[in-house]
Amino acid sequence: MYSIGSSVEIRTRQRSYFIDRTSDYEYVTFSGKVLPLPSYCNYPAVALSTGDPSFPMRIIPLHTIEGYVEKEEEGETRAYTVQSKDKTYLVTKVNGKMYCNCVGFQYHRRCRHSDIYKD
Ligand SMILES: [Zn+2]
Repeated sequence: MYSIGSSVEIRTRQRSYFIDRTSDYEYVTFSGKVLPLPSYCNYPAVALSTGDPSFPMRIIPLHTIEGYVEKEEEGETRAYTVQSKDKTYLVTKVNGKMYCNCVGFQYHRRCRHSDIYKD
């Protein structure tokens, strides 16, 4: 369920320690990449990257987890301009798929501008 390397958002329910709390529990959401659980962790848990170099890993006990969402990988987008005669076209590559704003591309889903950057 928690595959290592996948980007997830995990919602947890934790006991609230605030004095003026309105409920005994509070909900906290963490997001990061699932990491291999370190061997010193002797209870069922998920290890999540934090993106903070001084505190790179957060260990979330399974019993606190209310829900989780696997997030789409951030898409890689590249943009290029292609000069053709007196016109400039915008070619974009999104997750390996090519797009161009020329008329030919609207009809054929490919064109010579996008072919330049296909690979
Ligand atoms: Zn084109």
